[in-house]
Amino acid sequence: MSKPLKKAKGGKVRPQLLRGMKDILPQDAPYWDMIRRKARELAESYSFSRVETPLLEARDLFERSIGEHTDIVSKEMFTFTDKGGESIAVRPEWTASACRAYIEHGMVNQPQPVKLWSFFQCFRRERPQAGRYRSFWQADYEVIGDADPVVDAELILILYTFLKELGIQGLVQINSLGTPETRRKYTRGLVEYYKKHARKLCGDCKVRLKKNPLRLLDCKVPECRELVTAAPEIIDFLDDESRKHFMSVLEYLDESEVPYNLNSRLVRGLDYYTRTLFELWPDREGGENIALGGGGRYDGLMKLLGGRDTPACGFAMGVDRVVLEMKEQHITPPRQFQPDVYLAQLGDRAKRRSLKLFNDLRASGVRIIENFSQDGLKEQLGAASDAGVRYTLILGQKEMLDNTILLRDMENGSQEVVAFEKIVGEVKKKLG
Ligand code: AMP
Repeated sequence: MSKPLKKAKGGKVRPQLLRGMKDILPQDAPYWDMIRRKARELAESYSFSRVETPLLEARDLFERSIGEHTDIVSKEMFTFTDKGGESIAVRPEWTASACRAYIEHGMVNQPQPVKLWSFFQCFRRERPQAGRYRSFWQADYEVIGDADPVVDAELILILYTFLKELGIQGLVQINSLGTPETRRKYTRGLVEYYKKHARKLCGDCKVRLKKNPLRLLDCKVPECRELVTAAPEIIDFLDDESRKHFMSVLEYLDESEVPYNLNSRLVRGLDYYTRTLFELWPDREGGENIALGGGGRYDGLMKLLGGRDTPACGFAMGVDRVVLEMKEQHITPPRQFQPDVYLAQLGDRAKRRSLKLFNDLRASGVRIIENFSQDGLKEQLGAASDAGVRYTLILGQKEMLDNTILLRDMENGSQEVVAFEKIVGEVKKKLG
Protein backbone atom coordinates (compact mmCIF):
# COMPACT_ATOMS: atom_id res chain seq x y z
CA MET A 1 0.00 0.00 0.00
CA SER A 2 1.15 3.56 -0.64
CA LYS A 3 1.92 6.10 2.05
CA PRO A 4 -0.37 9.03 1.27
CA LEU A 5 -2.69 8.14 4.12
CA LYS A 6 -1.08 8.84 7.45
CA LYS A 7 -2.38 7.93 10.88
CA ALA A 8 -3.06 11.06 12.90
CA LYS A 9 -3.80 11.38 16.60
CA GLY A 10 -6.85 9.40 17.65
CA GLY A 11 -6.21 6.74 15.02
CA LYS A 12 -7.83 8.79 12.22
CA VAL A 13 -6.24 8.53 8.83
CA ARG A 14 -5.44 11.76 7.03
CA PRO A 15 -4.33 12.23 3.44
CA GLN A 16 -0.83 13.38 2.58
CA LEU A 17 1.09 14.48 -0.51
CA LEU A 18 3.13 11.85 -2.30
CA ARG A 19 6.82 12.10 -1.43
CA GLY A 20 8.62 14.82 -3.38
CA MET A 21 5.41 16.23 -4.83
CA LYS A 22 4.32 19.76 -4.26
CA ASP A 23 1.20 21.90 -3.96
CA ILE A 24 1.33 25.50 -5.10
CA LEU A 25 -0.40 27.45 -2.36
CA PRO A 26 -2.01 30.91 -2.58
CA GLN A 27 1.07 32.68 -1.21
CA ASP A 28 3.18 31.22 -4.03
CA ALA A 29 0.66 31.36 -6.87
CA PRO A 30 1.56 35.00 -7.79
CA TYR A 31 5.12 33.83 -8.64
CA TRP A 32 3.73 31.19 -10.95
CA ASP A 33 1.37 33.71 -12.51
CA MET A 34 4.18 36.18 -13.09
CA ILE A 35 6.35 33.55 -14.76
CA ARG A 36 3.49 32.24 -16.85
CA ARG A 37 2.71 35.77 -18.07
CA LYS A 38 6.34 36.32 -19.01
CA ALA A 39 6.42 32.93 -20.76
CA ARG A 40 3.42 33.87 -22.87
CA GLU A 41 4.66 37.38 -23.63
CA LEU A 42 8.01 36.08 -24.89
CA ALA A 43 6.37 33.26 -26.83
CA GLU A 44 4.09 35.71 -28.61
CA SER A 45 6.90 38.17 -29.41
CA TYR A 46 9.03 35.42 -30.90
CA SER A 47 6.06 33.81 -32.73
CA PHE A 48 5.81 30.53 -30.84
CA SER A 49 2.46 28.72 -30.94
CA ARG A 50 1.15 27.07 -27.79
CA VAL A 51 0.61 23.33 -27.73
CA GLU A 52 -0.80 21.30 -24.85
CA THR A 53 -0.08 17.60 -24.84
CA PRO A 54 -1.42 14.92 -22.48
CA LEU A 55 0.33 14.08 -19.25
CA LEU A 56 0.47 10.44 -20.30
CA GLU A 57 2.31 9.14 -23.35
CA ALA A 58 3.49 5.73 -24.57
CA ARG A 59 6.47 4.76 -22.44
CA ASP A 60 8.42 3.91 -25.54
CA LEU A 61 8.34 7.57 -26.70
CA PHE A 62 10.58 8.61 -23.83
CA GLU A 63 12.72 5.49 -23.85
CA ARG A 64 13.60 6.03 -27.48
CA SER A 65 14.14 9.77 -27.27
CA ILE A 66 15.70 10.49 -23.88
CA GLY A 67 17.64 7.22 -23.98
CA GLU A 68 17.25 3.92 -22.19
CA HIS A 69 20.34 4.31 -20.03
CA THR A 70 19.76 7.86 -18.90
CA ASP A 71 18.82 8.51 -15.27
CA ILE A 72 15.43 9.84 -16.30
CA VAL A 73 14.40 6.71 -18.15
CA SER A 74 16.20 4.05 -16.13
CA LYS A 75 15.34 5.38 -12.67
CA GLU A 76 13.01 8.35 -12.65
CA MET A 77 10.00 7.77 -14.87
CA PHE A 78 6.63 7.04 -13.37
CA THR A 79 5.35 4.19 -15.49
CA PHE A 80 2.49 1.74 -15.37
CA THR A 81 0.70 -0.79 -17.48
CA ASP A 82 -2.91 0.15 -18.03
CA LYS A 83 -5.84 -2.25 -18.03
CA GLY A 84 -5.46 -2.79 -21.77
CA GLY A 85 -1.87 -3.92 -21.27
CA GLU A 86 -0.35 -0.75 -22.76
CA SER A 87 2.90 0.50 -21.27
CA ILE A 88 2.46 4.13 -20.26
CA ALA A 89 4.68 6.85 -18.80
CA VAL A 90 3.85 10.09 -17.00
CA ARG A 91 5.80 12.72 -18.95
CA PRO A 92 9.20 13.51 -17.43
CA GLU A 93 9.76 16.38 -19.93
CA TRP A 94 8.19 17.86 -23.04
CA THR A 95 10.57 17.74 -26.02
CA ALA A 96 9.61 14.18 -26.93
CA SER A 97 5.91 15.05 -26.71
CA ALA A 98 6.42 18.12 -28.90
CA CYS A 99 8.17 15.96 -31.51
CA ARG A 100 5.42 13.35 -31.33
CA ALA A 101 2.83 16.09 -31.90
CA TYR A 102 4.86 17.55 -34.78
CA ILE A 103 5.05 14.17 -36.52
CA GLU A 104 1.52 13.07 -35.73
CA HIS A 105 -0.15 16.28 -36.92
CA GLY A 106 1.92 16.61 -40.09
CA MET A 107 3.52 19.90 -39.04
CA VAL A 108 6.34 19.05 -41.42
CA ASN A 109 3.99 20.31 -44.15
CA GLN A 110 3.69 23.75 -42.58
CA PRO A 111 6.16 26.56 -43.32
CA GLN A 112 9.35 25.76 -41.38
CA PRO A 113 10.52 26.26 -38.76
CA VAL A 114 7.60 25.37 -36.55
CA LYS A 115 7.94 27.11 -33.18
CA LEU A 116 6.08 25.51 -30.28
CA TRP A 117 5.85 26.39 -26.61
CA SER A 118 4.09 25.08 -23.54
CA PHE A 119 3.81 25.63 -19.77
CA PHE A 120 3.14 22.41 -17.90
CA GLN A 121 3.83 20.06 -15.05
CA CYS A 122 6.09 17.03 -15.37
CA PHE A 123 7.16 14.23 -13.09
CA ARG A 124 10.42 12.49 -12.25
CA ARG A 125 10.98 10.07 -9.42
CA GLU A 126 14.12 11.81 -8.19
CA ARG A 127 15.53 11.94 -4.68
CA PRO A 128 13.75 15.03 -3.32
CA GLN A 129 15.90 17.95 -2.18
CA ALA A 130 15.84 21.74 -2.44
CA GLY A 131 15.05 22.62 -6.06
CA ARG A 132 14.55 18.99 -7.03
CA TYR A 133 11.04 17.63 -6.80
CA ARG A 134 9.06 14.75 -8.17
CA SER A 135 6.40 17.07 -9.56
CA PHE A 136 7.64 20.31 -11.10
CA TRP A 137 6.75 22.86 -13.76
CA GLN A 138 8.52 23.84 -16.93
CA ALA A 139 8.13 26.51 -19.60
CA ASP A 140 9.37 24.95 -22.81
CA TYR A 141 10.23 26.40 -26.24
CA GLU A 142 11.08 24.30 -29.29
CA VAL A 143 12.08 25.39 -32.80
CA ILE A 144 11.66 22.53 -35.27
CA GLY A 145 12.84 22.57 -38.86
CA ASP A 146 15.83 24.94 -38.96
CA ALA A 147 19.49 23.96 -38.62
CA ASP A 148 20.78 27.55 -38.64
CA PRO A 149 22.89 28.50 -35.58
CA VAL A 150 20.80 31.66 -35.26
CA VAL A 151 18.04 29.41 -33.86
CA ASP A 152 20.29 28.13 -31.05
CA ALA A 153 21.31 31.70 -30.25
CA GLU A 154 17.74 32.99 -30.33
CA LEU A 155 16.62 30.31 -27.87
CA ILE A 156 19.51 31.09 -25.53
CA LEU A 157 18.65 34.78 -25.78
CA ILE A 158 15.01 34.02 -24.92
CA LEU A 159 16.03 32.02 -21.83
CA TYR A 160 18.46 34.74 -20.75
CA THR A 161 15.90 37.50 -21.33
CA PHE A 162 13.18 35.52 -19.58
CA LEU A 163 15.19 35.44 -16.37
CA LYS A 164 16.54 38.95 -16.75
CA GLU A 165 13.04 40.38 -17.07
CA LEU A 166 12.00 38.50 -13.94
CA GLY A 167 14.89 40.23 -12.17
CA ILE A 168 17.48 37.41 -12.28
CA GLN A 169 20.87 38.02 -13.85
CA GLY A 170 21.94 34.77 -15.48
CA LEU A 171 25.15 33.36 -16.88
CA VAL A 172 24.84 30.98 -19.82
CA GLN A 173 26.85 27.76 -19.68
CA ILE A 174 27.46 26.47 -23.17
CA ASN A 175 29.11 23.49 -24.83
CA SER A 176 28.89 21.52 -28.05
CA LEU A 177 28.47 17.77 -28.29
CA GLY A 178 29.07 17.73 -32.05
CA THR A 179 27.53 15.02 -34.19
CA PRO A 180 26.71 11.52 -32.97
CA GLU A 181 30.03 10.49 -34.52
CA THR A 182 31.91 13.12 -32.47
CA ARG A 183 30.11 11.92 -29.43
CA ARG A 184 31.03 8.31 -30.08
CA LYS A 185 34.71 9.22 -30.52
CA TYR A 186 34.67 11.39 -27.45
CA THR A 187 32.91 8.72 -25.39
CA ARG A 188 35.60 6.24 -26.39
CA GLY A 189 38.30 8.70 -25.27
CA LEU A 190 36.48 9.26 -22.03
CA VAL A 191 36.07 5.56 -21.31
CA GLU A 192 39.76 4.98 -21.99
CA TYR A 193 40.66 7.71 -19.53
CA TYR A 194 38.23 6.59 -16.84
CA LYS A 195 39.13 2.93 -17.10
CA LYS A 196 42.57 3.87 -15.85
CA HIS A 197 40.99 5.37 -12.73
CA ALA A 198 38.08 2.96 -12.33
CA ARG A 199 38.99 2.04 -8.79
CA LYS A 200 38.60 5.63 -7.59
CA LEU A 201 35.08 5.99 -8.96
CA CYS A 202 31.94 6.11 -6.82
CA GLY A 203 29.37 3.32 -7.17
CA ASP A 204 27.12 5.31 -9.51
CA CYS A 205 30.03 6.27 -11.75
CA LYS A 206 31.12 2.65 -12.06
CA VAL A 207 27.70 1.99 -13.59
CA ARG A 208 27.89 5.17 -15.70
CA LEU A 209 31.24 4.05 -17.08
CA LYS A 210 29.50 1.02 -18.52
CA LYS A 211 26.14 2.47 -19.45
CA ASN A 212 26.33 6.24 -19.95
CA PRO A 213 29.95 7.49 -19.80
CA LEU A 214 29.10 11.15 -20.60
CA ARG A 215 27.32 11.42 -17.28
CA LEU A 216 30.65 10.74 -15.53
CA LEU A 217 31.33 14.41 -16.14
CA ASP A 218 28.59 15.72 -13.91
CA CYS A 219 29.03 13.51 -10.87
CA LYS A 220 29.01 15.64 -7.71
CA VAL A 221 31.11 13.28 -5.53
CA PRO A 222 34.40 15.12 -4.67
CA GLU A 223 36.74 12.24 -5.69
CA CYS A 224 34.96 11.93 -9.04
CA ARG A 225 35.07 15.70 -9.52
CA GLU A 226 38.85 15.57 -9.24
CA LEU A 227 38.96 13.02 -12.03
CA VAL A 228 36.78 15.25 -14.18
CA THR A 229 39.40 18.02 -14.10
CA ALA A 230 41.89 15.99 -16.11
CA ALA A 231 39.37 14.19 -18.34
CA PRO A 232 39.51 14.78 -22.12
CA GLU A 233 37.46 17.73 -23.41
CA ILE A 234 34.89 17.32 -26.15
CA ILE A 235 35.92 20.51 -27.90
CA ASP A 236 39.10 18.69 -29.02
CA PHE A 237 36.98 16.04 -30.74
CA LEU A 238 34.59 18.33 -32.64
CA ASP A 239 34.24 17.85 -36.40
CA ASP A 240 34.68 20.92 -38.62
CA GLU A 241 30.99 21.51 -39.29
CA SER A 242 30.09 21.32 -35.60
CA ARG A 243 32.96 23.61 -34.70
CA LYS A 244 31.79 26.13 -37.29
CA HIS A 245 28.23 25.89 -36.00
CA PHE A 246 29.40 26.38 -32.42
CA MET A 247 31.56 29.40 -33.28
CA SER A 248 28.64 30.96 -35.09
CA VAL A 249 26.33 30.50 -32.07
CA LEU A 250 28.96 32.16 -29.88
CA GLU A 251 29.29 35.07 -32.32
CA TYR A 252 25.54 35.65 -32.17
CA LEU A 253 25.70 35.64 -28.38
CA ASP A 254 28.58 38.12 -28.42
CA GLU A 255 26.59 40.41 -30.71
CA SER A 256 23.53 40.11 -28.48
CA GLU A 257 25.62 40.81 -25.36
CA VAL A 258 24.54 37.60 -23.66
CA PRO A 259 27.21 36.63 -21.10
CA TYR A 260 28.34 33.01 -21.39
CA ASN A 261 30.88 30.61 -20.07
CA LEU A 262 32.36 27.89 -22.27
CA ASN A 263 31.75 24.85 -20.14
CA SER A 264 33.36 21.77 -21.63
CA ARG A 265 31.94 19.61 -18.82
CA LEU A 266 28.33 20.35 -19.59
CA VAL A 267 26.68 17.21 -21.00
CA ARG A 268 23.08 17.20 -19.66
CA GLY A 269 21.23 14.03 -18.89
CA LEU A 270 19.40 13.31 -22.13
CA ASP A 271 20.70 11.31 -25.07
CA TYR A 272 19.07 13.21 -27.90
CA TYR A 273 21.34 16.25 -27.95
CA THR A 274 23.66 17.06 -30.84
CA ARG A 275 25.87 20.13 -31.20
CA THR A 276 24.84 23.06 -28.99
CA LEU A 277 24.03 22.41 -25.36
CA PHE A 278 23.30 25.09 -22.77
CA GLU A 279 22.12 25.85 -19.28
CA LEU A 280 21.48 29.07 -17.45
CA TRP A 281 22.80 29.54 -13.93
CA PRO A 282 22.21 32.56 -11.69
CA ASP A 283 25.21 34.87 -11.90
CA ARG A 284 25.89 35.23 -8.19
CA GLU A 285 28.04 33.67 -5.52
CA GLY A 286 26.73 30.17 -4.91
CA GLY A 287 24.85 30.16 -8.22
CA GLU A 288 27.09 27.48 -9.76
CA ASN A 289 25.28 24.36 -10.84
CA ILE A 290 21.84 25.79 -10.15
CA ALA A 291 20.37 25.11 -13.56
CA LEU A 292 17.35 27.38 -13.90
CA GLY A 293 16.87 26.13 -17.42
CA GLY A 294 18.62 24.16 -20.08
CA GLY A 295 18.37 22.75 -23.54
CA GLY A 296 20.13 22.20 -26.81
CA ARG A 297 19.99 21.03 -30.37
CA TYR A 298 18.58 17.61 -31.21
CA ASP A 299 18.96 17.21 -34.97
CA GLY A 300 18.60 13.43 -34.98
CA LEU A 301 15.55 13.01 -32.78
CA MET A 302 12.77 13.49 -35.28
CA LYS A 303 14.16 10.76 -37.53
CA LEU A 304 14.76 8.48 -34.58
CA LEU A 305 11.09 8.81 -33.70
CA GLY A 306 10.00 7.89 -37.21
CA GLY A 307 9.53 11.36 -38.67
CA ARG A 308 11.36 13.01 -41.56
CA ASP A 309 14.97 13.97 -40.83
CA THR A 310 14.38 17.43 -39.29
CA PRO A 311 16.79 19.59 -37.32
CA ALA A 312 15.51 21.09 -34.09
CA CYS A 313 16.58 22.96 -30.98
CA GLY A 314 14.83 23.85 -27.71
CA PHE A 315 15.01 24.49 -24.00
CA ALA A 316 13.00 24.07 -20.83
CA MET A 317 13.04 26.48 -17.94
CA GLY A 318 12.42 25.02 -14.47
CA VAL A 319 9.69 27.18 -12.97
CA ASP A 320 10.00 25.85 -9.38
CA ARG A 321 13.71 26.63 -9.35
CA VAL A 322 13.14 30.09 -10.76
CA VAL A 323 10.63 30.77 -7.96
CA LEU A 324 13.23 29.65 -5.39
CA GLU A 325 15.78 31.94 -6.99
CA MET A 326 13.36 34.88 -7.01
CA LYS A 327 12.79 34.35 -3.29
CA GLU A 328 16.52 34.00 -2.67
CA GLN A 329 17.01 37.38 -4.36
CA HIS A 330 13.97 38.96 -2.65
CA ILE A 331 12.14 39.52 -5.92
CA THR A 332 8.42 39.74 -5.27
CA PRO A 333 5.74 39.45 -7.92
CA PRO A 334 3.72 42.63 -8.46
CA ARG A 335 0.14 42.69 -7.25
CA GLN A 336 -1.96 41.85 -10.25
CA PHE A 337 -5.45 42.80 -9.23
CA GLN A 338 -5.86 46.15 -7.49
CA PRO A 339 -9.54 46.61 -6.67
CA ASP A 340 -11.12 50.08 -6.72
CA VAL A 341 -14.35 49.36 -4.86
CA TYR A 342 -15.47 47.27 -1.88
CA LEU A 343 -19.10 46.30 -1.50
CA ALA A 344 -20.20 46.12 2.15
CA GLN A 345 -23.63 44.83 3.16
CA LEU A 346 -25.56 44.74 6.43
CA GLY A 347 -28.49 42.44 7.04
CA ASP A 348 -30.07 39.57 5.14
CA ARG A 349 -32.05 41.60 2.64
CA ALA A 350 -29.07 43.72 1.75
CA LYS A 351 -26.94 40.64 1.31
CA ARG A 352 -29.48 39.16 -1.09
CA ARG A 353 -29.46 42.29 -3.19
CA SER A 354 -25.69 42.66 -3.04
CA LEU A 355 -25.00 39.48 -4.93
CA LYS A 356 -26.56 40.82 -8.12
CA LEU A 357 -25.27 44.35 -7.64
CA PHE A 358 -21.74 43.02 -7.21
CA ASN A 359 -21.99 41.02 -10.40
CA ASP A 360 -23.47 43.97 -12.35
CA LEU A 361 -20.64 46.25 -11.25
CA ARG A 362 -18.02 43.62 -12.03
CA ALA A 363 -19.55 42.95 -15.45
CA SER A 364 -19.52 46.67 -16.26
CA GLY A 365 -15.75 46.69 -15.75
CA VAL A 366 -15.47 47.94 -12.16
CA ARG A 367 -12.68 46.23 -10.18
CA ILE A 368 -14.72 45.35 -7.14
CA ILE A 369 -14.31 42.99 -4.16
CA GLU A 370 -16.60 41.76 -1.39
CA ASN A 371 -16.73 39.48 1.61
CA PHE A 372 -20.27 38.20 1.89
CA SER A 373 -19.22 35.98 4.79
CA GLN A 374 -18.52 39.06 6.89
CA ASP A 375 -21.54 40.85 8.37
CA GLY A 376 -20.19 43.61 10.64
CA LEU A 377 -19.64 47.06 9.13
CA LYS A 378 -16.44 47.68 11.07
CA GLU A 379 -14.84 44.48 9.79
CA GLN A 380 -15.92 45.18 6.24
CA LEU A 381 -14.58 48.75 6.32
CA GLY A 382 -11.33 47.38 7.77
CA ALA A 383 -11.05 44.86 4.92
CA ALA A 384 -11.81 47.60 2.38
CA SER A 385 -9.11 49.78 3.81
CA ASP A 386 -6.57 46.88 3.85
CA ALA A 387 -7.32 46.23 0.20
CA GLY A 388 -6.57 49.88 -0.62
CA VAL A 389 -9.83 50.55 -2.49
CA ARG A 390 -10.86 54.09 -3.37
CA TYR A 391 -14.56 53.65 -2.58
CA THR A 392 -16.75 51.45 -0.40
CA LEU A 393 -20.40 50.94 -1.21
CA ILE A 394 -22.54 50.35 1.86
CA LEU A 395 -25.92 48.68 1.55
CA GLY A 396 -27.65 48.56 4.97
CA GLN A 397 -31.21 48.23 6.22
CA LYS A 398 -31.97 51.94 5.89
CA GLU A 399 -30.68 52.03 2.34
CA MET A 400 -32.82 48.99 1.52
CA LEU A 401 -35.90 50.86 2.74
CA ASP A 402 -34.99 54.04 0.84
CA ASN A 403 -33.82 52.21 -2.24
CA THR A 404 -30.45 53.95 -2.02
CA ILE A 405 -26.84 53.01 -1.35
CA LEU A 406 -24.00 54.84 0.42
CA LEU A 407 -20.87 55.69 -1.49
CA ARG A 408 -17.96 56.24 0.86
CA ASP A 409 -14.75 57.91 -0.26
CA MET A 410 -12.03 55.94 1.55
CA GLU A 411 -9.51 58.75 1.35
CA ASN A 412 -11.41 61.45 3.22
CA GLY A 413 -14.22 59.39 4.78
CA SER A 414 -16.99 61.50 3.18
CA GLN A 415 -20.19 59.64 2.24
CA GLU A 416 -22.94 60.41 -0.22
CA VAL A 417 -26.33 58.82 -0.75
CA VAL A 418 -26.96 57.58 -4.28
CA ALA A 419 -30.19 56.22 -5.74
CA PHE A 420 -29.79 52.45 -6.06
CA GLU A 421 -30.56 52.29 -9.77
CA LYS A 422 -27.94 54.95 -10.54
CA ILE A 423 -25.08 53.40 -8.63
CA VAL A 424 -23.36 51.55 -11.49
CA GLY A 425 -23.18 54.73 -13.58
CA GLU A 426 -22.15 56.82 -10.58
CA VAL A 427 -19.29 54.49 -9.63
CA LYS A 428 -18.05 54.38 -13.19
CA LYS A 429 -18.14 58.18 -13.38
CA LYS A 430 -16.20 58.53 -10.12
CA LEU A 431 -13.55 56.09 -11.29
CA GLY A 432 -13.28 57.93 -14.58
P1 AMP B 1 15.70 19.13 -18.30
O1 AMP B 1 14.28 18.81 -18.71
O2 AMP B 1 16.33 18.02 -17.52
O3 AMP B 1 16.51 19.64 -19.44
O4 AMP B 1 15.60 20.32 -17.24
C1 AMP B 1 15.26 21.64 -17.57
C2 AMP B 1 15.07 22.42 -16.29
O5 AMP B 1 13.99 21.87 -15.53
C3 AMP B 1 16.25 22.34 -15.33
O6 AMP B 1 17.21 23.29 -15.65
C4 AMP B 1 15.61 22.60 -13.99
O7 AMP B 1 15.47 24.00 -13.78
C5 AMP B 1 14.23 22.00 -14.15
N1 AMP B 1 14.16 20.67 -13.50
C6 AMP B 1 14.57 19.48 -13.97
N2 AMP B 1 14.32 18.50 -13.09
C7 AMP B 1 13.73 19.06 -12.02
C8 AMP B 1 13.22 18.59 -10.77
N3 AMP B 1 13.26 17.30 -10.46
N4 AMP B 1 12.67 19.49 -9.91
C9 AMP B 1 12.60 20.80 -10.22
N5 AMP B 1 13.06 21.31 -11.39
C10 AMP B 1 13.62 20.47 -12.28
